[in-house]
Amino acid sequence: MSQVATWTGSRRLLKRLRDVMASEASAQTRLDQIVRVIAADMVAEVCSAYLLRAGEVLELFATEGLNPGAVHKTRLRVGEGLIGDIAAHARPLALSDAWSHPNFAYRPETGEDVYQSLMGVPIQRGGRVLGVIAVQNRTPRSYTDEEIETLETVAMVIAELVASGELVDPGEAKGTDVAILPRRLDGARLNGGLAIGVAVLHQPRITIRQMVAEDPKAELERLRDAVTVMHIALDHMLAADDLAASGEHREVLESYRMFAEDRGWLNRIHDTIRTGLTAEAAVQKVQNDMRARLREVTDPYLKERLHDLEDLTNRLLVHLSGVGAEMPNALPDDVVLIARSMGPAELLDYDRKQLRALVLEEGSSTSHVAIVARALDIPVVGRVANLLDRIDPGDPVVVDGDNAQVYVKPGEDVLQSFRSTMLTRAEQSARYEALKALPPITRDGEAVSLLLNCGLLIDVANLDATNAAGVGLYRTEIPFMMRASYPDVTTQIELYRRILDLAGDRPVTFRTLDVGGDKQLPYFNAGANENPAMGWRAIRISLDRPALLRHQLRAMVAASSGRRLVVMFPMIAEVAEFDQARAILDAELQRAARAGAEPPQAVRVGAMLEVPALMWQTKALLERVDFLSVGSNDLLQFLFAADRGSQQVAERYDALSPPVLGLLRDLVERCKNAEVPVTLCGEMASRPIEAMALLGVGFRSLSMPPAAIGAVKMMTRSLDVKRLARFLDRQIDSPQHSLRELLRAFARDHGVVI
Ligand code: PEP
Ligand code: MG
Repeated sequence: MSQVATWTGSRRLLKRLRDVMASEASAQTRLDQIVRVIAADMVAEVCSAYLLRAGEVLELFATEGLNPGAVHKTRLRVGEGLIGDIAAHARPLALSDAWSHPNFAYRPETGEDVYQSLMGVPIQRGGRVLGVIAVQNRTPRSYTDEEIETLETVAMVIAELVASGELVDPGEAKGTDVAILPRRLDGARLNGGLAIGVAVLHQPRITIRQMVAEDPKAELERLRDAVTVMHIALDHMLAADDLAASGEHREVLESYRMFAEDRGWLNRIHDTIRTGLTAEAAVQKVQNDMRARLREVTDPYLKERLHDLEDLTNRLLVHLSGVGAEMPNALPDDVVLIARSMGPAELLDYDRKQLRALVLEEGSSTSHVAIVARALDIPVVGRVANLLDRIDPGDPVVVDGDNAQVYVKPGEDVLQSFRSTMLTRAEQSARYEALKALPPITRDGEAVSLLLNCGLLIDVANLDATNAAGVGLYRTEIPFMMRASYPDVTTQIELYRRILDLAGDRPVTFRTLDVGGDKQLPYFNAGANENPAMGWRAIRISLDRPALLRHQLRAMVAASSGRRLVVMFPMIAEVAEFDQARAILDAELQRAARAGAEPPQAVRVGAMLEVPALMWQTKALLERVDFLSVGSNDLLQFLFAADRGSQQVAERYDALSPPVLGLLRDLVERCKNAEVPVTLCGEMASRPIEAMALLGVGFRSLSMPPAAIGAVKMMTRSLDVKRLARFLDRQIDSPQHSLRELLRAFARDHGVVI
């Protein structure tokens, strides 16, 4: 069928549906009429509508062709049968031989045994599946893509009917599970910090009143006007002062702005308007298609881009409906925003003065909205399972970004405890601020170097705020993870230069790519590893695919021309690996020299100690490296054979145990004898009691996330480290599970602030 014929056919059907929708009849009568109209129009013997009821059950609400006695009786679980399959995956199915499909579930009461073909699509609204609409035919029939499209358009009309609440009580689908008691939801930490507020569900604020249009030309014009107004509003929003600083958030927002001009997207909306929908309905139809795609996409970069497009769609709907982009005026003063997912600009629609925290059902630390939230400095918890079903608008909420927990309807005790923690933190930050200009020297005069762990430019910008001595760990894979393709040398040079510029005189330790394991690049397939943390990752990939490492080092050498270059290699398991990596760096330095480039002013090359085997090679290793950096996150997981991501074993072994502290003390001793500086850059360094123990076993350099610097500096300045070292010497061979309590007692007895 030609495209024009499809548009004409679709327009005819929509016109009939509009007449049905406009009638005064009850919603049930209108639904009965709709299935009749569809069956006739699509030349199908059967058309049935199933709607979602409480307990994830799909109930037959109307049918033309099946046994009328089955209406309100036939029920299928989501996932059961073909109808359940369509609802579970929120995607259409078109089968010329439905019986041979493995998911076919026969329901004798419907009398459907004579129908061979089936085409069904989900009825959805605002990203939620509300039901399924399906047609069936007696003879084998191959449904066309155009027919699927038409049925999807019809499903949107039905979605509006369902949304009126007349057929199924909207509160019903939440069932009896609506929280009355306080509950705690666990997720992933996307940005630290604490907040108390009131849940506000982020959702498109527009209800589409009219789906079908008389005059496609007029609709196209309305669309054009709305797009222009949207562009102007976006430019205005992205020019806000608090977003002006450079960083990934700016890149995210700028490429988002470019998306608003995307021809492919706008053309799809144009084509949909030509099928007879209003501009709003066409925008929403394209959005529904996108959501269906989103569910299938696994590539993290593409997923983010689709979220951006969804954000733009919502914005366009606001402009089309003419209600203006302002927020509903009844927002509480302390907004904790709850969303399945969100685009980066949607967050900026909220008044920054009211916005306290963000909680998402999806999301990762490199998701665009999380990057913008970091720039705004609000706590974010992501990947909270079934979030939207477990929280209601208006619920009081506490967000603990540090521990990735959300308390819904917290009891007075929880609230009190968070209020006092927040107060204490506010007082503490005032005290840390006062310490900012003071050096991290122990009470007995030992100088300590406190450095930052960074992955985004916005983290590097914290050097000034914390007065840290430099960047002890720059995780280069983080910017790589945010891109659609491998950044070429020029792009990398630019990035590393910006980091060095931001750092000024302070040193930056670049760690070469540590991908594989839990850090996947959308454009690099590290393959399936049974045990990814111990699989093909980090330096193993870099040495097996030396072009990656060569390019990265080439960019680092070029970016450091005339300044200091500090590089370290992750996951070194044997000296030979370090030698190989170092040889590649040397080759790049020579290459730059041959090309006549100004060399780095100084080059320092180190290894990360994350694999225990390296402890038995320290003699040879220390002769080669300029410094060592202990990656305690990985080292501890390999030492205890306890997966660092597993909740079950998370607390089983303690970092403050004799074997860990003994090993670290030995290592520091060997480094001291070899006159090789050593740092620790795992999470261990960021908790004051752990940091205290690390100073106790001899470390004088620790690298940690920016938020930890204040507390660790305060601990350092209150510690008599020589006394602690003597104390630890007496305890370190003890057979105990942990020395934590003893260390706590030491701190208490000696006035160490932990
Ligand atoms: C570590 O393992 O301690 C470390 C700093 O590296 P990452 O956490 O990036 O694996
Ligand atoms: Mg590591």
